[in-house]
Amino acid sequence: MNKIAALCKRRGFIYPGSEIYGGLGGTWDYGPLGTELKRNIKNEWWKDVVQLREDIVGVDGSIIMNPKVWAASGHIEAFVDPLVECKICHERLRADHIDQIEEHGKSHKEKPKWTEPRKFNLLVKAYLGILEGRQQEVYLRGEITQGVHVNFRSVVDSTRVKIPFGIAQIGKAFRNEITPGNFTFRSREFEQMEVQYYIRPETKEGEKRFEYWKKFWMDWYTGFGISKNKLRFRDHADGERAHYAKAATDIEYESPWGWSEFMGIHHRGDWDLSRHQEYSGQNMKYQDPETKEEYLPWDIESSAGVDRSLLFFLIDGYTEDKGRIFLKLHPKLAPYKVAVFPLLANKPKLTGLARRIYLDLKTDFMIAWDGRGNIGKRYASQDEIGTPFCVTVDFQSLEDDTVTLRDRDTTKQERVKINGLKKILREKI
Ligand code: ATP
Repeated sequence: MNKIAALCKRRGFIYPGSEIYGGLGGTWDYGPLGTELKRNIKNEWWKDVVQLREDIVGVDGSIIMNPKVWAASGHIEAFVDPLVECKICHERLRADHIDQIEEHGKSHKEKPKWTEPRKFNLLVKAYLGILEGRQQEVYLRGEITQGVHVNFRSVVDSTRVKIPFGIAQIGKAFRNEITPGNFTFRSREFEQMEVQYYIRPETKEGEKRFEYWKKFWMDWYTGFGISKNKLRFRDHADGERAHYAKAATDIEYESPWGWSEFMGIHHRGDWDLSRHQEYSGQNMKYQDPETKEEYLPWDIESSAGVDRSLLFFLIDGYTEDKGRIFLKLHPKLAPYKVAVFPLLANKPKLTGLARRIYLDLKTDFMIAWDGRGNIGKRYASQDEIGTPFCVTVDFQSLEDDTVTLRDRDTTKQERVKINGLKKILREKI
């Protein structure tokens, strides 16, 4: 994990938030490569969930919502973690994070005594308005979910969706986590990508759709290269489920600190719509266009963390093989798809041709140029950031219009025609 965190900082994936001011606990900034990776994850997700389907549409809600939303959703009352404080050093931890409590015990000579657990609300407060003392207390959204539910009526009325259908959203959420940590895994500001999938309120239908989404997401993550044996489903036990959930399953990754959730599939029933109907006084029922039957649909939610997904793509892709370090990222996710180099940077003819190829490919792919050092170092440098293909222009290129195309994972090189390069790359990426 230390190696990955160091790589992230050194190569510009992830930096500590506000680092020049000593950082700010639980916040992280994405550098140029991390930004590309994150954008690619979100774009592929959106493509598979919205663009390629006919039953899901997207929304982009605001981060600050009317505080009544959070009363209705139950977050003001129930979005709490149990907080305990060490009576010796006043460190605060989550009472349900047993491993951290045990670890903390080792840091004192005597056995630490803990305060009784008290409920700590995770919603982050903010204040809106210009008049001191008359500002309105609001919350930064603790989950992006509610932005979808409050727009259910508007989406039904303004589009042609018919049940079953989904509404997808990607965006930031904020939680006052008691113990942020494990790099970006538990942050106070993070991004979520979610689908709320509305269905007829029938037990069989609920079970069917719940199973469908479980399989969909397992296939999605393995399809993008996460090792199958590092993933598992974990069903929530009865006492563990969130206040809204009829059934809940996490998908977990076997991380360096143990099995850890990066997404959940939740059967929320009609909890959210019925609460918003009650609290807003608005009719949230759906009317079947054929039978005219009215009902509150059930919601099967898929909720994934963008940052946790990204972190696990990085961890899973990090490979050391006979002294070679490479990031085995899926070509669609890799920050750069291709790097182009002249074999020798001080030969104008080589550089000129390489530059032309680079500029031509740049219109289609996120692409890197490197003219420094020797070719071995350039390959190593691209391997480390996960660039799946490298194109080298050498002296033979000047004679027969071919270049070498190197594959990151096998390190094999093939000679390909320059005029066929784009087509080959399109097929591989
Ligand atoms: P945890 O049990 O780890 O606190 P959770 O069950 O509260 O997570 P959900 O409310 O189900 O998480 O949120 C859905 C997803 O949002 C999670 O699977 C995770 O990927 C992401 N997420 C939640 N909290 C954080 C956080 N503090 N930092 C980064 N991602 C988070």
